[in-house]
Parts: sequence; C-alpha cells; structure tokens
Amino acid sequence: MPLKQVPRENIPWYPTIDEEKCDGCRICFQFCQHGVYQWDEENNIAKVIQPFQCVVGCNGCQPLCPPGAISFPDIDAIQEIIRKLREG
Ligand code: SF4
Ligand code: SF4
Repeated sequence: MPLKQVPRENIPWYPTIDEEKCDGCRICFQFCQHGVYQWDEENNIAKVIQPFQCVVGCNGCQPLCPPGAISFPDIDAIQEIIRKLREG
C-alpha cells in the first residue's frame, strides 16, 4: 500500500510536550505551519491539539525548544509500524 493510502491516524507520529518543562516561549507554536499546536493562554503553554496534522518524519520544532520540552516517538519504531501497515 502506498504511504499516502495509510490512514494518518494509524501512524502515531506527533510531538508530546512536557508541560512541567515548557517555559511559554511560543517558538513551537509560531514555527509549525500545520496547526498541530494551539496556545493555552490560561496556562501560558503550548498544547498539541491536532497531532495527526504533524508531518510524519518531521521533528522540526523539537530542537527549537529551549528547555527541551518536546519529544517524539522513536523513528525506527514508527518506520516498522508503517512497514507493517503498508504490507496490509
Ligand atoms: S514536527 Fe513539524 S509538523 Fe510536527 S508539530 Fe513540529 S513543526 Fe509541526
Ligand atoms: S518551544 Fe518548548 S518551551 Fe517554547 S512553547 Fe514550545 S514547548 Fe514550550
């Protein structure tokens, strides 16, 4: 199965934010062009609201986070999941 035919929701690739570490700099929210993040004004932290709009394999926002609050799954494990999905 071509990758584009694999339902995006079946691929668990998206950022997770450690809210204890997030210092409210907004860099990830301003950087991502895919609507993955929303700004939580009340708590002054970034929230992941559309995880499956994250581009599979992109981790562009991760190294931009000063306190290292953003993490992603292991890419090798994700590739294995995709491989199995494509085999059907
Ligand atoms: S990894 Fe890329 S697509 Fe995903 S949230 Fe970060 S900047 Fe957006
Ligand atoms: S880049 Fe890091 S510290 Fe800044 S808002 Fe995003 S998660 Fe929080």
